[in-house]
Amino acid sequence: MIDVVIIGAGPAGLGAAVAAAEHGLQVCVVDEFVKPGGRLLGQLHEEPDGKWVNGIEEAQKLYNQAIGLGVDIRCGISVYDLRKLENTWCVYTTDEMIESKCLLLATGASETPIPIPGWTLPGVMSIGAAQVMGNVHRVKPGEKGIIIGVNVLSVAIARELQLCGVHVESILLPQPGLLAGSAGNPEKMMESLLRLSHLAPSPLIRMGGKWVSPKLGARLFPKNGFKMWGIPIQLRKAALEILGDNQVEGVRMAEVSANGEVLPGTEKTVSADFVCIAGGLTPMAELASVAGCSFCYVPELGGHVPLHNEFMQTNLAGLYIAGNITGVESAKVARAQGKVAGLSMARELKALVYGGNEKLYAAVEEVTETRRNALIQFQPGIEEARKELHRKFDETYKQKLVSI
Ligand SMILES: Cc1cc2nc3c(=O)[nH]c(=O)nc-3n(C[C@H](O)[C@H](O)[C@H](O)COP(=O)(O)OP(=O)(O)OC[C@H]3O[C@@H](n4cnc5c(N)ncnc54)[C@H](O)[C@@H]3O)c2cc1C
Repeated sequence: MIDVVIIGAGPAGLGAAVAAAEHGLQVCVVDEFVKPGGRLLGQLHEEPDGKWVNGIEEAQKLYNQAIGLGVDIRCGISVYDLRKLENTWCVYTTDEMIESKCLLLATGASETPIPIPGWTLPGVMSIGAAQVMGNVHRVKPGEKGIIIGVNVLSVAIARELQLCGVHVESILLPQPGLLAGSAGNPEKMMESLLRLSHLAPSPLIRMGGKWVSPKLGARLFPKNGFKMWGIPIQLRKAALEILGDNQVEGVRMAEVSANGEVLPGTEKTVSADFVCIAGGLTPMAELASVAGCSFCYVPELGGHVPLHNEFMQTNLAGLYIAGNITGVESAKVARAQGKVAGLSMARELKALVYGGNEKLYAAVEEVTETRRNALIQFQPGIEEARKELHRKFDETYKQKLVSI
């Protein structure tokens, strides 16, 4: 039996593998994608100090570190079921069943689709798919694109597409309504944009981001939008339909009021050869549900997340979680959480040597620091929401879990 099995070779899974293997544990990482790195593989951005972060290189560094410590990384294998027998976790994969003493779920997040008339046409894709095409496979998704959905991720990926040589015609809202939810609400989306204003090349937008409230921002927002890196961001325009006979040819759009109502007589058609839909991210926690974890609904973290504490421990003995499955945040936070999970599993398996506890507490502190300094904040109020979640966990489970 293996000491630790980790599902997911993203920054959280690989970060945990390194921390656990450094303490002498035998670790196996399983990932259904053909390469390790998770969503890190698609990321490319400029830090405020002007340095570029290339996710492929970051993933390679983590992979090399893990392999150097003897971690067994198996790609192209999906996990579809989990069972707990006495003190053993049975992990059912498309290859074989693997048994382990501790199990870490680091399965990341999935994209939330927004149904829009015409969304089944060839050339329509999720914003994450366009990121993977451009940054991982080095294939342009098209020449001229329109992005439907204004949020932190869509603006960040629009910039990446631009760096791939793609013309991004505009980023606009989906038509307001039940299916679009808050993604069709200019005020809510203004809130999301304000969290990105520090990245804007224009000092005016950077200053504005500090002082303008989302409500005021949505009202004052110019009808023709404003530009970030030359890309028009439009909170007062909404996509009504994606047009085309055999593939995407354009988008029918209209102006909307500050509270998202379509203004009659303002419709027009803009041409494009591909369209991305960006509905936001949700923690991918199905396996935690299969295992029988308790869950909590936390909008600030992206939806339903398994209840857990700051040591990444769930309410099921021997089962840990790290990264976006615990709430949607940036890759650096995911990696820091992975380190905590790796050290926690080492503690449970009595592999933390002298000073190990201090290391674990320092790693917990590092997660908070990394969160505070993160370039991208996916939602407001993450820190408070996490504190509340950990308080709930302690209240319910602290007495029941032996190894806390
Ligand atoms: C489409 C998309 C784009 C993103 N872009 C950015 C960005 O530009 N900047 C940013 O800071 N953050 C971005 N994020 C957030 C991103 O998820 C985090 O930055 C970080 O990658 C999370 O790390 P993680 O290790 O938790 O998960 P991930 O990096 O998502 O890794 C999870 C891994 O688990 C594997 N997996 C999942 N389920 C199974 C299973 N059942 N069996 C086997 N393997 C499985 C997946 O194949 C994947 O490799 C993005 C997220 C998504 C979904």
